[in-house]
Amino acid sequence: MRLRTLRDLAVEGRRVLTRVDYNVPLQDGRVDDDTRIRATLPTLAALRERGARVILCSHLGRPKGHVREDLRLAPIAERLGELLGVGVHYVRDITGAEARAMAAQLGPGEVGLLENLRFDPREEQNDPEFARELASLAECYVNDAFGAAHRAHASTVGVAALLPSAAGLLMEREIRALTRVLDADDHPFVLILGGAKISDKIGVIENLSQRADALLFGGGMANTFLKALGHEVGRSLAEDDRLDEARRLLSLAEQRGIDVVLPSDAVVAPELSAVERARTVPIGEVGPENAIFDIGPETVARFSKVISGAALVVWNGPMGVFEVPAFREGTRGVAQAVAACPGFTVVGGGDSAAAIEELGLADQIDHVSTGGGATLEFLEGKELPGVRLLMEENR
Ligand code: ADP
Ligand code: MG
Repeated sequence: MRLRTLRDLAVEGRRVLTRVDYNVPLQDGRVDDDTRIRATLPTLAALRERGARVILCSHLGRPKGHVREDLRLAPIAERLGELLGVGVHYVRDITGAEARAMAAQLGPGEVGLLENLRFDPREEQNDPEFARELASLAECYVNDAFGAAHRAHASTVGVAALLPSAAGLLMEREIRALTRVLDADDHPFVLILGGAKISDKIGVIENLSQRADALLFGGGMANTFLKALGHEVGRSLAEDDRLDEARRLLSLAEQRGIDVVLPSDAVVAPELSAVERARTVPIGEVGPENAIFDIGPETVARFSKVISGAALVVWNGPMGVFEVPAFREGTRGVAQAVAACPGFTVVGGGDSAAAIEELGLADQIDHVSTGGGATLEFLEGKELPGVRLLMEENR
């Protein structure tokens, strides 16, 4: 199967409906983190260079089919305009008269932005009439919203069947990098998993452990594995209803001959706010009064050693509560090891990508995925509805 790309689509002079993922955090009516906007700039440049009239559309937050003033795309239009160095024709309308007028008046190389798609309930319902209304604004369709590709909505799926369509450059880059992970022939393949819960990551563990050589577990999810093996984890976040599942995953890894590395020390505190009482202890000494909030330095060193020899690294989920500076060092240490690894390195997941950005290491990682749920589903081996329609034989 081959992905249709911008090179396959005649966009010259045409109106191109372009689905992007501008679901970015806002603060006081301004864009707080513009990573996802910047990630689409190569596609926008390619389209504009070819004289396309670019009609952008995106969702933002969860307005659930109603107009919400705080979720209008005006701040995004402003930030995008700054990044492009030209004004963006933003309309407070999705498929109505105002949107149609904007689309009709857009000149070659100009950029317009429609209002938040999820203000219309028909978007998430993948309503065929809404898809037709969107399609009628343009002559072709580009999907650059990898982060929304796991959702079968009107703007990601419905419209793709109605117009000549192709993946944007970001979508293409995501799919190439993540497909390389799924088809991995690179060994040693080291999979690092952290974050809050095992239950979110079971599918990824099952699918990728078919190819991985080593599994490194940190973050909250490691607590569930530790507990399943009989360790005291005190007041740590752990999923008591997943202990059998954890044991099953450990024996699956053993059957497959994979090295499983669990934390041997941890940064603990009685509670998250009691940072002045945070200290590092061996895993055997967590105690009932404490909770694990980060992996310790010995664990970072053991993980780093495995990572340094990897040909392929995939990392999802922070190693601790990195939002709190006292519990950030584990994530920082592992991030530095991944950044220094000479192999092909991929980081995915909303919080993991944010951590890598915050640590200033994104440019030392081969691929930082812009998807959260979409990245995880792709790595589980699921076919994403938004991607399926961009594959050659589906048109
Ligand atoms: P991603 O978005 O990258 O997939 P997750 O959403 O699974 O990652 O996990 C991120 C969350 O996990 C963060 O909010 C972090 O605070 C939390 N977390 C990590 N380690 C722990 C821990 N030891 N105890 C409690 N929460 C943790
Ligand atoms: Mg998350």
